[in-house]
Amino acid sequence: MTSRRDEIAIIGAGLAGCLAACFLARRGYPVALYERRSDPRTGTTERGRSINLALSERGLDALRRIGLADQVMTDALPMRGRMIHPVEGEQQFQSYSAAGDRAINSISRGALNNALLDEAAALPGVRIVFDHRLVGLDPIDGTLSFETPQGPVAAKASVVLGADGAGSAVRGQLLAYGLLDESVDFLDYGYKELTIPALGGDFALDPDALHIWPRGTSMMIALPNPDRSFTCTLFWPNEGSGSFAALDSPAAIEEHFTQHYPDVIPLAPNLVDDYQHNPVGVLGTVRCTPWQVYGKVGLLGDAAHAIVPFYGQGANCAFEDVVELDRCLDECADDWLGALPLFQQRRQENAEAIATMALTNFVEMRDKVASPVFQLRRKVEHA
Ligand code: FAD
Repeated sequence: MTSRRDEIAIIGAGLAGCLAACFLARRGYPVALYERRSDPRTGTTERGRSINLALSERGLDALRRIGLADQVMTDALPMRGRMIHPVEGEQQFQSYSAAGDRAINSISRGALNNALLDEAAALPGVRIVFDHRLVGLDPIDGTLSFETPQGPVAAKASVVLGADGAGSAVRGQLLAYGLLDESVDFLDYGYKELTIPALGGDFALDPDALHIWPRGTSMMIALPNPDRSFTCTLFWPNEGSGSFAALDSPAAIEEHFTQHYPDVIPLAPNLVDDYQHNPVGVLGTVRCTPWQVYGKVGLLGDAAHAIVPFYGQGANCAFEDVVELDRCLDECADDWLGALPLFQQRRQENAEAIATMALTNFVEMRDKVASPVFQLRRKVEHA
């Protein structure tokens, strides 16, 4: 049985990995947190991948448990409802709650990750090892192989947690050993970021809302940032006339936005440059089972259950995973052979539910929110 003196290896120092390191260190485990990237606190973010998240109560609950919620919330912007932007006419505000007192919080994924890295690094027993890309794993004895700038590195751990995101190498290794089944359903849509900068030092749009431009088969959303800019995300089909590739010149981009997103044109001076140079990201749903083998290797966060972003719950769900794993370790007296299967038993059904809801919510956001029937129903519900 793994004792609290045995080192736990966590692969991936993203949101789930850093939070898991904090929880496990607090339980008294030595933790090695391996990350393929260089330290993001000293570098710059990749262009067009700034991603601001809607952090909700589920995620905040996890952060409160390690005393980080207040600090994180100082940089968060509460969004109390959706602001719908029709092609023509007035914007319409749809409150998230009848009393208007409930909000989800816009927060930079990078800033949240950095805060979690600082928190993990400050805990005794946590080693964070950057520039280590996991390329091999023996699920029986916990031997790990990494590619690093200095060449191959080997390590060993009593328990290995894969928190290495949607394209998880840990999951890939379990698959290669024939120990896991997976399905990865890519959406026929991609995403691209644009920026609406601050206007005269202030927000160019209402900062209290998540802005949506529903356009039937596609949409754009915008979330506020602390520097008073907005990060916009286009969710467009991968193929056909409304796809990213279809707009292949500055004139075509400007014409398309003038026709479909006319109020954005004066607010986004770098529209064409952003559009032409920011990458198109892929979106998909990962399902796999089991989430653990031999009580020795486990998966959590996107590595176990990546979802499309339309319910704003991927990171919140990853945080909830960590809280539940901690609870399972409590209940199993730190016997990982009991705790990891219990964790899967409790979380898998919930992960499947939110995966389905996230797909359904794409239709609601890009289409239904604009319908007069939908708006009338909300008025009645909130009356
Ligand atoms: P990740 O954040 O992907 O972290 C994985 C880490 O593992 C990374 O640091 C990566 O570099 C590292 N890694 C990968 N492979 C290896 C390897 N081989 N070796 C070592 N390290 C490795 N969620 C919300 O809750 N609310 C939202 O509003 C929201 N909006 C989103 C909008 C968009 C456009 C997208 C794409 C996602 C959004 N999400 C949202 C989802 C959220 O970003 C993810 O669910 C969350 O980041 C998952 O955390 P994670 O730690 O499991 O994985």
